[in-house]
Amino acid sequence: MQFKLDNNQSISLEIVRKRNLKNIYLRVTPKGVQVSANKNISLDEIEAFVLSKSAWLRKHLSIVKEKKKKQALVSGNEVYYQGEACLLVCKEHQLQQVELKFKEQQFHIKMPKEAEQEILEELFNRFYKNKAIEFITPMVELWSKKMSLNPSNIAFRKAKRQWGSCSSQNSLSFNYYLMKLPQALVEYVVVHELAHIKEKNHSKNFWALVEQFLPNYKALVKELREFERLL
Ligand SMILES: [Zn+2]
Repeated sequence: MQFKLDNNQSISLEIVRKRNLKNIYLRVTPKGVQVSANKNISLDEIEAFVLSKSAWLRKHLSIVKEKKKKQALVSGNEVYYQGEACLLVCKEHQLQQVELKFKEQQFHIKMPKEAEQEILEELFNRFYKNKAIEFITPMVELWSKKMSLNPSNIAFRKAKRQWGSCSSQNSLSFNYYLMKLPQALVEYVVVHELAHIKEKNHSKNFWALVEQFLPNYKALVKELREFERLL
Protein backbone atom coordinates (compact mmCIF):
# COMPACT_ATOMS: atom_id res chain seq x y z
CA MET A 1 0.00 0.00 0.00
CA GLN A 2 1.02 3.62 -0.42
CA PHE A 3 1.64 5.51 2.79
CA LYS A 4 2.38 9.16 3.53
CA LEU A 5 5.12 10.16 5.94
CA ASP A 6 4.85 13.28 8.12
CA ASN A 7 6.24 15.49 5.34
CA ASN A 8 3.68 14.07 2.86
CA GLN A 9 6.37 11.95 1.13
CA SER A 10 4.65 8.92 -0.33
CA ILE A 11 6.28 5.53 0.34
CA SER A 12 5.42 1.97 -0.53
CA LEU A 13 4.54 0.06 2.65
CA GLU A 14 4.33 -3.70 2.89
CA ILE A 15 2.82 -5.27 6.00
CA VAL A 16 3.92 -8.76 6.99
CA ARG A 17 2.07 -10.60 9.74
CA LYS A 18 4.19 -12.87 11.89
CA ARG A 19 2.75 -14.75 14.82
CA ASN A 20 5.45 -14.55 17.44
CA LEU A 21 6.42 -10.91 17.25
CA LYS A 22 6.06 -8.80 20.38
CA ASN A 23 7.04 -5.50 18.79
CA ILE A 24 6.59 -3.85 15.43
CA TYR A 25 9.65 -4.05 13.18
CA LEU A 26 10.58 -1.77 10.33
CA ARG A 27 12.88 -2.58 7.46
CA VAL A 28 13.86 -0.45 4.50
CA THR A 29 14.19 -2.50 1.31
CA PRO A 30 15.02 -1.46 -2.27
CA LYS A 31 11.25 -1.64 -2.92
CA GLY A 32 10.16 0.50 0.01
CA VAL A 33 9.36 -0.15 3.64
CA GLN A 34 8.43 -3.45 5.17
CA VAL A 35 6.76 -3.59 8.56
CA SER A 36 6.35 -6.83 10.50
CA ALA A 37 3.86 -7.23 13.34
CA ASN A 38 1.61 -9.89 14.80
CA LYS A 39 -2.01 -9.96 13.75
CA ASN A 40 -3.34 -8.52 17.02
CA ILE A 41 -1.82 -5.17 16.21
CA SER A 42 -4.34 -3.09 14.30
CA LEU A 43 -3.66 -1.29 11.06
CA ASP A 44 -4.20 2.03 12.86
CA GLU A 45 -1.52 1.15 15.39
CA ILE A 46 0.87 0.12 12.63
CA GLU A 47 0.26 3.34 10.71
CA ALA A 48 0.77 5.46 13.82
CA PHE A 49 4.02 3.63 14.49
CA VAL A 50 5.31 4.10 10.95
CA LEU A 51 4.35 7.77 11.04
CA SER A 52 6.24 8.23 14.32
CA LYS A 53 9.34 6.86 12.61
CA SER A 54 9.13 9.27 9.66
CA ALA A 55 12.50 10.96 10.27
CA TRP A 56 14.35 7.63 10.57
CA LEU A 57 12.60 6.29 7.46
CA ARG A 58 13.38 9.37 5.39
CA LYS A 59 17.06 9.04 6.24
CA HIS A 60 17.26 5.33 5.44
CA LEU A 61 15.16 5.55 2.29
CA SER A 62 17.54 8.16 0.95
CA ILE A 63 20.56 5.96 1.79
CA VAL A 64 18.98 3.07 -0.15
CA LYS A 65 18.14 5.38 -3.06
CA GLU A 66 21.71 6.70 -3.15
CA LYS A 67 23.11 3.17 -3.12
CA LYS A 68 20.81 2.15 -5.97
CA LYS A 69 21.96 5.15 -7.99
CA LYS A 70 25.61 4.25 -7.40
CA GLN A 71 24.95 0.65 -8.43
CA ALA A 72 23.18 1.50 -11.68
CA LEU A 73 25.08 0.19 -14.69
CA VAL A 74 25.76 3.56 -16.29
CA SER A 75 28.92 5.18 -17.58
CA GLY A 76 31.00 6.72 -14.82
CA ASN A 77 29.76 4.40 -12.07
CA GLU A 78 31.99 1.77 -10.53
CA VAL A 79 31.58 -1.99 -10.52
CA TYR A 80 33.41 -4.29 -8.12
CA TYR A 81 35.70 -6.98 -9.47
CA GLN A 82 38.21 -8.94 -7.38
CA GLY A 83 37.95 -6.41 -4.58
CA GLU A 84 38.54 -3.35 -6.76
CA ALA A 85 36.03 -0.69 -7.72
CA CYS A 86 36.42 -0.57 -11.52
CA LEU A 87 35.17 2.24 -13.71
CA LEU A 88 32.37 1.46 -16.13
CA VAL A 89 32.66 3.06 -19.57
CA CYS A 90 29.61 2.69 -21.83
CA LYS A 91 29.59 3.59 -25.49
CA GLU A 92 26.76 3.37 -27.97
CA HIS A 93 27.21 1.55 -31.23
CA GLN A 94 25.09 0.80 -34.27
CA LEU A 95 24.94 -2.95 -33.73
CA GLN A 96 22.09 -4.68 -31.92
CA GLN A 97 24.20 -6.74 -29.52
CA VAL A 98 25.83 -5.64 -26.27
CA GLU A 99 29.52 -6.30 -25.68
CA LEU A 100 31.52 -6.28 -22.48
CA LYS A 101 35.27 -6.14 -22.24
CA PHE A 102 37.44 -5.89 -19.17
CA LYS A 103 40.79 -4.25 -19.73
CA GLU A 104 43.19 -2.19 -17.62
CA GLN A 105 40.90 -2.43 -14.59
CA GLN A 106 37.96 -0.91 -16.48
CA PHE A 107 34.76 -2.36 -17.85
CA HIS A 108 34.03 -1.25 -21.41
CA ILE A 109 30.55 -1.75 -22.74
CA LYS A 110 29.35 -1.25 -26.28
CA MET A 111 25.61 -1.25 -26.65
CA PRO A 112 22.73 -0.07 -28.81
CA LYS A 113 21.21 3.21 -27.63
CA GLU A 114 18.08 1.69 -26.12
CA ALA A 115 19.78 -1.14 -24.18
CA GLU A 116 18.04 -1.66 -20.84
CA GLN A 117 19.54 -2.17 -17.39
CA GLU A 118 18.39 -5.80 -17.26
CA ILE A 119 20.36 -6.59 -20.41
CA LEU A 120 23.51 -5.06 -18.93
CA GLU A 121 22.91 -6.93 -15.67
CA GLU A 122 22.64 -10.17 -17.62
CA LEU A 123 25.90 -9.37 -19.34
CA PHE A 124 27.67 -8.81 -16.02
CA ASN A 125 26.12 -11.95 -14.55
CA ARG A 126 27.57 -13.98 -17.40
CA PHE A 127 30.95 -12.30 -16.91
CA TYR A 128 31.01 -13.04 -13.16
CA LYS A 129 29.82 -16.61 -13.66
CA ASN A 130 32.49 -17.38 -16.25
CA LYS A 131 35.19 -15.84 -14.06
CA ALA A 132 33.91 -17.77 -11.03
CA ILE A 133 34.14 -21.05 -12.94
CA GLU A 134 37.64 -20.12 -14.09
CA PHE A 135 39.04 -18.91 -10.74
CA ILE A 136 37.02 -20.50 -7.96
CA THR A 137 36.89 -24.09 -9.28
CA PRO A 138 40.69 -24.56 -9.05
CA MET A 139 40.66 -22.79 -5.68
CA VAL A 140 38.11 -25.30 -4.35
CA GLU A 141 40.18 -28.17 -5.74
CA LEU A 142 43.31 -26.85 -4.06
CA TRP A 143 41.71 -26.37 -0.63
CA SER A 144 39.87 -29.66 -0.99
CA LYS A 145 43.25 -31.41 -1.24
CA LYS A 146 44.75 -29.42 1.63
CA MET A 147 41.79 -30.16 3.91
CA SER A 148 41.22 -33.73 2.65
CA LEU A 149 37.53 -32.97 2.21
CA ASN A 150 35.91 -33.79 -1.12
CA PRO A 151 32.74 -32.14 -2.40
CA SER A 152 30.42 -34.28 -4.55
CA ASN A 153 29.78 -31.34 -6.88
CA ILE A 154 30.68 -27.67 -7.37
CA ALA A 155 28.11 -25.26 -8.81
CA PHE A 156 27.90 -21.49 -9.32
CA ARG A 157 24.72 -19.48 -9.00
CA LYS A 158 23.51 -16.02 -8.28
CA ALA A 159 22.21 -15.59 -4.74
CA LYS A 160 20.94 -12.57 -2.85
CA ARG A 161 22.22 -13.24 0.63
CA GLN A 162 24.37 -16.35 0.65
CA TRP A 163 27.96 -16.57 -0.52
CA GLY A 164 27.97 -20.33 -0.51
CA SER A 165 26.26 -23.46 0.73
CA CYS A 166 26.95 -27.12 1.34
CA SER A 167 24.15 -29.65 0.93
CA SER A 168 23.63 -32.79 3.00
CA GLN A 169 25.10 -34.64 0.01
CA ASN A 170 28.21 -32.44 0.20
CA SER A 171 27.43 -30.64 -3.00
CA LEU A 172 28.90 -27.12 -2.83
CA SER A 173 27.27 -24.12 -4.36
CA PHE A 174 28.93 -20.70 -4.66
CA ASN A 175 27.48 -17.31 -5.41
CA TYR A 176 29.25 -16.09 -8.54
CA TYR A 177 29.20 -12.53 -7.17
CA LEU A 178 32.11 -13.76 -5.05
CA MET A 179 34.13 -12.48 -7.99
CA LYS A 180 33.38 -8.97 -6.71
CA LEU A 181 35.40 -9.72 -3.57
CA PRO A 182 39.16 -9.80 -2.92
CA GLN A 183 40.71 -13.23 -3.30
CA ALA A 184 41.38 -13.69 0.43
CA LEU A 185 37.64 -13.41 1.13
CA VAL A 186 36.74 -15.85 -1.63
CA GLU A 187 39.25 -18.24 -0.10
CA TYR A 188 37.56 -17.87 3.30
CA VAL A 189 34.14 -18.74 1.77
CA VAL A 190 35.69 -21.77 0.03
CA VAL A 191 37.27 -23.03 3.26
CA HIS A 192 34.03 -22.34 5.15
CA GLU A 193 31.92 -24.43 2.75
CA LEU A 194 34.48 -27.23 2.53
CA ALA A 195 34.53 -27.39 6.35
CA HIS A 196 30.76 -28.03 6.24
CA ILE A 197 31.49 -31.35 4.54
CA LYS A 198 32.81 -32.50 7.92
CA GLU A 199 30.84 -30.26 10.28
CA LYS A 200 27.29 -29.50 9.11
CA ASN A 201 26.57 -26.69 11.55
CA HIS A 202 28.44 -23.73 12.97
CA SER A 203 29.61 -25.57 16.07
CA LYS A 204 32.84 -25.05 18.00
CA ASN A 205 34.35 -27.93 16.04
CA PHE A 206 33.38 -26.27 12.79
CA TRP A 207 35.17 -23.00 13.64
CA ALA A 208 38.18 -24.92 14.98
CA LEU A 209 38.43 -26.66 11.61
CA VAL A 210 38.22 -23.34 9.73
CA GLU A 211 40.83 -21.85 12.06
CA GLN A 212 43.17 -24.77 11.47
CA PHE A 213 43.40 -23.79 7.80
CA LEU A 214 42.79 -20.04 8.08
CA PRO A 215 44.16 -18.81 11.43
CA ASN A 216 43.06 -15.24 10.60
CA TYR A 217 39.50 -16.21 9.68
CA LYS A 218 37.95 -13.80 12.20
CA ALA A 219 39.52 -10.80 10.49
CA LEU A 220 38.33 -12.18 7.14
CA VAL A 221 34.74 -12.51 8.40
CA LYS A 222 34.88 -8.91 9.58
CA GLU A 223 36.22 -7.75 6.23
CA LEU A 224 33.54 -9.73 4.41
CA ARG A 225 30.79 -7.97 6.43
CA GLU A 226 32.36 -4.62 5.52
CA PHE A 227 32.39 -5.54 1.83
CA GLU A 228 28.77 -6.61 1.96
CA ARG A 229 27.85 -3.07 2.93
CA LEU A 230 29.54 -1.75 -0.21
CA LEU A 231 27.93 -4.16 -2.65
ZN1 LIG B 1 28.23 -22.02 7.16
